[in-house]
Amino acid sequence: MKWDISEMGSWTYKQFPQGAVIPEAGNSNDYITGGWRSERPWRNDEKCTQCLLCWIVCPDSSVRVADEKVTTFDLDHCKGCGICAQVCPTDAIDMVPEGCDLPEVK
Ligand code: SF4
Ligand code: SF4
Repeated sequence: MKWDISEMGSWTYKQFPQGAVIPEAGNSNDYITGGWRSERPWRNDEKCTQCLLCWIVCPDSSVRVADEKVTTFDLDHCKGCGICAQVCPTDAIDMVPEGCDLPEVK
């Protein structure tokens, strides 16, 4: 079952389902949770050693990897928790405020 949330912006409190019910398993891709984010991860390729630790720990599977190397972040689903930046052993990831210009590579 999927809820029709197309009119959610005009719902009153009575129309919201009670509790946190996940009606269908494996649906996380359907929800653009990146809209919750206030900061986004930014990776400095010059500092990154491709250890893949950020990919392992990301709770939202939002660190994209190709050919065993980190490429980009899935910003539709990254919630900006900053765990990737916390664990990075080379400080290659900075959390930057949404809407700001991305830093120059240091
Ligand atoms: S944890 Fe840091 S060094 Fe390791 S792959 Fe991620 S960004 Fe690169
Ligand atoms: S900020 Fe959090 S959700 Fe986003 S890529 Fe890093 S660990 Fe994943």
